[in-house]
Amino acid sequence: MSQETMSGQAGPLMSRVEVSGLLAMMAAFRSRTPSDTELRWWRDQLVGYSSAECQAALLAHSKTSPESVTPAQIIGRIRDARHRTEVRRQRLARDPETDRRRSADAARRGMAAVYAETGWTRLPEQRAALTVPCPEPGCEVPAGVMCAQTGPRPRRDPATGVHRSRRDAAQAAAAAQDREVTA
Ligand SMILES: [Zn+2]
Repeated sequence: MSQETMSGQAGPLMSRVEVSGLLAMMAAFRSRTPSDTELRWWRDQLVGYSSAECQAALLAHSKTSPESVTPAQIIGRIRDARHRTEVRRQRLARDPETDRRRSADAARRGMAAVYAETGWTRLPEQRAALTVPCPEPGCEVPAGVMCAQTGPRPRRDPATGVHRSRRDAAQAAAAAQDREVTA
């Protein structure tokens, strides 16, 4: 097995040529050839990091301090870059269905806030329907929240905009309350 493939789970191990190229980018080595000991030392220090990552980190570092650089500084920059990449990846991988639902919820909450602020009055049947959560499969919004504008239109009551099953549930709840009061 060659030295290049011995890094195993530690990640990439740069070749001598790659390390030498990296050192050639540094001011400290620009005027002379690094010794074997130096090459080996840098290679051991940067095990687990690819040549491309190290070069990018070195370039970024040279913009802020052109003097000298330590392996720890290179590794710190690579870790920051990896973290930023991971955060970006997670943001992109977020479930689009969850996003859609979240924005639909926000839109409904927004409408409820508009109602509250403007003092618009709702139809009595609509107000009654909103006192109960919607039992309609796929809608199931909590009490106080307008029904989701999803599913087949005939299932919603045109006058109030709520699902018919919710209007019925509210009427049943009101009837039950009436019976309790009169009992
Ligand atoms: Zn509903």
